[in-house]
Amino acid sequence: MKRDFEPIKPAKRTENIEYAVRDIVLVANEARKKGKELIFLNIGDPAQFDFRTPEPIIEATYQAMCENLTGYSASEGVDEAICAIRKEARKAGIEPSDIYVTSGASEAIDFALTALVNEGENVLVPYPGYPLYTAILAKLGAEPNPYYLDEENEWQPDLADIEAKINEKTRAIVIINPNNPTGAVYSEETLRGIIDIARRHQLVIFSDEIYDKLVFDGAKHISIASLDLEVPVVTFNGLSKSYLAPGFRIGWGIVSGPWEVVKDFVEAIHKLARARLSASHPKQYAIPVALNGNQGHLKEVIEKLEKRRDLTYEMLNDIPGISCVKPKGAFYAFPRIDIPEVSDREFVKELIAETGVVVVHGSGFGEKPGTAHFRVVFLPPEDLLKKAYTRIKDFMKKFLAR
Ligand code: PLP
Repeated sequence: MKRDFEPIKPAKRTENIEYAVRDIVLVANEARKKGKELIFLNIGDPAQFDFRTPEPIIEATYQAMCENLTGYSASEGVDEAICAIRKEARKAGIEPSDIYVTSGASEAIDFALTALVNEGENVLVPYPGYPLYTAILAKLGAEPNPYYLDEENEWQPDLADIEAKINEKTRAIVIINPNNPTGAVYSEETLRGIIDIARRHQLVIFSDEIYDKLVFDGAKHISIASLDLEVPVVTFNGLSKSYLAPGFRIGWGIVSGPWEVVKDFVEAIHKLARARLSASHPKQYAIPVALNGNQGHLKEVIEKLEKRRDLTYEMLNDIPGISCVKPKGAFYAFPRIDIPEVSDREFVKELIAETGVVVVHGSGFGEKPGTAHFRVVFLPPEDLLKKAYTRIKDFMKKFLAR
């Protein structure tokens, strides 16, 4: 049929936007059509498995709705939420200069990058790393400037590589700690090294700490902003992971550093916040309840995750051709695969088609040339994980034998 309109040409800026975690679902759907039983190890959503949002968080939201707090809120967030975030930040040793509440940490990240980076400038982003940063930079016409995480050093950032990648158009450095997709938790030495680089090159640090409370083996997470009060940092966090409420879409950014240094940048963030009116108003009342509550759920979550992490680490390392660094936080593992002459994408496609186990190819997070990985989410219960890893083992045996 002849139509009145030509097909719409999407903007060029969307061409390089990739979000492998969800893109891989198309491959999984094909496998399902062919009768494969799927096991999803691709999306970091605790609510899909045996984790439930703590009741008081739900009740606080419901209560706010009953009290007619269903209009727009102040653009930067309600006072109750901001006070609770400030108190929590101070507990971690951060001295906030500004706090803004957003629709998930994702929007806080978007505002911070949009308020800072001009077209043609670049931001240091970790490879491998959560792909939102490169997607936003693509939207802004800015460049992701990848630095590598060092697998030989438990996936700590390679400081020499960071330093070598900086040029006159570099504005900021992103760290994700605990890391997605590697599960690494950064040492104080690494964090001090990053601060030193930021100071020498006048860079803003963006520290994504959405998994800060999900650390294992009794380790302590260090917020980079707590180590130096002079360096400008935006710390991102929210309710999605530690409070098991990703569908609430509630997050925040904490800007720290001396007021004279950060004030124009903060005003730019607030302009963006005002333009989109507000984050979901009633759900912001869940923030004080979550942060000031008894944190009882965390013990249970960490206990479950440690067991699932141990099983993941042991079973994956038992597969010939696969090796995996032990994750120290979050709920991801990033095993390396020894598969000469096949790309990780091809490997993962075949793995999904043959076994129904849905993992994400490592290059979807960016990775060092010459290496191949995939990411698994170890949120599912042990029986499901065992089934998935056994299928991967059988697949790998056939794959290496051909
Ligand atoms: N940052 C990292 C490192 C993540 O892994 C995720 C989600 O997986 C997000 C941010 C998104 O957080 P939110 O759900 O608060 O937007």
